[in-house]
Amino acid sequence: MALSCQSVEETIAGILARRPVLGPVLNMFAPLLTARAALPQTLRPLLEETTLRLPEMDRERAAQGFPLLAEQPLTGIAAPLRAAAETILPLLEAQTVTRPHMDGLRRMFAVPQEEDAARERTAALEVLAEGMLNEKTAVLEKAAADAGVPLPVLLFAFGFILGPVLRALVLMRPGGDGKDAPWNADGAWRHGYCPVCGSSPSIAYLDRPVFDEKNAFLAGGGGKKHLHCSLCGTDWVFRRGACPFCEKEGNDVMEILRETKDARGERVDWCTQCRTYCPAVDLRESTGTPDMDVQAIGMLHLDMVAAGKGLHPIHPAFWNTF
Ligand SMILES: [Zn+2]
Ligand SMILES: [Zn+2]
Repeated sequence: MALSCQSVEETIAGILARRPVLGPVLNMFAPLLTARAALPQTLRPLLEETTLRLPEMDRERAAQGFPLLAEQPLTGIAAPLRAAAETILPLLEAQTVTRPHMDGLRRMFAVPQEEDAARERTAALEVLAEGMLNEKTAVLEKAAADAGVPLPVLLFAFGFILGPVLRALVLMRPGGDGKDAPWNADGAWRHGYCPVCGSSPSIAYLDRPVFDEKNAFLAGGGGKKHLHCSLCGTDWVFRRGACPFCEKEGNDVMEILRETKDARGERVDWCTQCRTYCPAVDLRESTGTPDMDVQAIGMLHLDMVAAGKGLHPIHPAFWNTF
C-alpha cells in the first residue's frame, strides 16, 4: 500500500494494546500476514524474468468496468506462484482450516518429474489464476475437485499465494500504485471493485490533509475516501456518497456506524439500499497509518456489531462470517 507506514507487527501491537481480546485471532494469523507483506519484494526478480506486466490503463475499457487484469492471459505466472507457495504453504499448515488439506494443496504447486505432467500442472496454475481474476466458477470448482480440496479452502489458500504475486506486478509498474496511479486519475475508475484485479475491498480509509513540505501550505484537505483491495492490496479513490457494492449514490445512501468510545476513526460504512458494509478508518482521527490488511481483521468487533444489525460484509472472509 502506497502510504503504509506501520509494519504488520506494529499494526498488530497497536490493535492489541487497545483490544487484547483480539489476541488469539491476530496472533494466529500474524506469521501469514507478515509473510504475505514481505513476499512482493522477494518475488519481483522472478516476475521480471517473465513477460508478465500490468497492462496500461485503457480509459475506455476502464469506463466499461473492466479491471486491468480482466481477460488477460497470465502466461508465466506459475513460477512466481510456486515461489510464493513455498513460503505460504508451511504457514497454512498451522491453520485449522487448511491443515487437513495440505496434501492436495501441495500437489497443486509441485513440479512432477515427468515433463508432460509438469507442463500440465503449470498450465493448470495459469488457468486457476485466470479463473480467480475472472470469477469463472466452473474453473475454480474443477481446480478444487482436482486437488481434492473444498472450494472455500482452495480460495482461502490460493488468495494468500496469488495476492503477493499480483502485488509485485503492481509495484513493478513505473510509479507503482502511488497517488498518481492511472486508476486514481479523475473519473478514470468509478467502481467499488479493484481496478487491477477486480476483487472486493476489505477496508476503506479516509486520508489525512496533505501538506506541501517545501512550501508549507496545505496541498489537499484530506478526507478523500480510498478502498483497499482484499487480494492485490491496490488502493483506489472512491466517492464517499456511493456504495462500493451496489454503486447507488446519493445523500442518504451511506450511513456510518461507530463505537461510542475511543473509536479513533474506526467505523463501518453501510449502505441503506443493499445493507452491505465495508469497515473504514478515518486517518484524520488517529495517529500512524496501519497496515490495511491487518487493520481489516482488527475491526472484528465492528463486524460483529454489523452482523447483529443484519448487514453483510462486502468482502466475506474468515474473520467476518459468523
Ligand atoms: Zn486487486
Ligand atoms: Zn449498496
